[in-house]
Amino acid sequence: MPAAKQNVRSLTLDHIKDWTAARGFEEYRASQIAGWLYNRPLTDIAEMHNLPADVRGALEEDFDAHSAKISTLSTSEDGTRKFLTELADSKVVESVLIPREERITLCISSQVGCAMDCDFCATATLGLARNLEAGEIVSQVMLARDVAQPEPLTNYVFMGMGEPLANYDRLMRSIDIMTARWGLGISPRRITVSTVGLVPQMKRLARETSVNIALSLSAARDDLRDRLMPINKKYPLAELIGACELLEIPKRKRITIEYVMLDGVNDTARDVEDLVGLCRRLRVKVNLIPFNSFPGSDFRSTPWDRIEEFQEALLSHNIHATVRKSRGQDIQAACGQLAAAST
Ligand code: SAH
Repeated sequence: MPAAKQNVRSLTLDHIKDWTAARGFEEYRASQIAGWLYNRPLTDIAEMHNLPADVRGALEEDFDAHSAKISTLSTSEDGTRKFLTELADSKVVESVLIPREERITLCISSQVGCAMDCDFCATATLGLARNLEAGEIVSQVMLARDVAQPEPLTNYVFMGMGEPLANYDRLMRSIDIMTARWGLGISPRRITVSTVGLVPQMKRLARETSVNIALSLSAARDDLRDRLMPINKKYPLAELIGACELLEIPKRKRITIEYVMLDGVNDTARDVEDLVGLCRRLRVKVNLIPFNSFPGSDFRSTPWDRIEEFQEALLSHNIHATVRKSRGQDIQAACGQLAAAST
């Protein structure tokens, strides 16, 4: 069987230069190709009109040139927009555009489904269908930029479907393309990768990039976290927090700790105490996320007044804490509600 072709939007400028050299095309064609691939709305190769036909033909021959498409777009009462990106094999992933004050944040998917199996997350019910290619991640960002037009996107968070660090190499490639001058030209400070806590990959991410890191904690005791987030059995809290203490993160930056508020499960006085104990060891800001329900889940969100009490308790210990206002719930676009039919 011939090897599957690489997605054309997974190529860095260096890869394109290697390719033009190998194919015997002039080197300046490489920048032209990168320009077409990354500096404009998604364009089919046939429409890259300043490239000669033989270059276009060769690109189509050597790479998977299928352009991802938006299949559905829904808009929430609060302005949040969710769209489905349809991939070459007809699988779909969800992306969410969240406008707030001067910002527009894009919530990006990194996998079709997810294997992490967190008890409180809708995507977990899908299981993992497959990893996204770097080019599919990049295409999602380009499609979102089009949707947001004429407003520019300001923040990019890998908090959509999937565990980004379980798709490490492709994630890194997509970040390279997103942040390159010849690519999408996004500052790494505007990008956040959120993880359940895959320790080896977190260390690599901190070493190899300067993107922001968010850790989904949601429990500060092993017995509870084992139940809510099975990954805790592999990387228990002592190891996870120990690794976070040693992460190579610039002094002015903090790790974001995400904590989903589950009524009667992880929101008691004892939970605050345990969370304070862990946070004291790190430079963090805690983001409390009201639980968003989805069909088949028995959890309920902690009521608003008790979320505020929880926040106050953290603040009283000098721990930076905010509450994430839920967005896009009416279109199932809020945190943990992403579960597109993926077949
Ligand atoms: N796999 C990565 C990124 C995707 S989830 C991670 O877990 O970090 C993005 C955030 O949504 C995580 O912090 C997760 O804990 C949170 N989340 C998951 N299910 C949720 C739900 N039902 N309600 C509110 N937040 C949820």
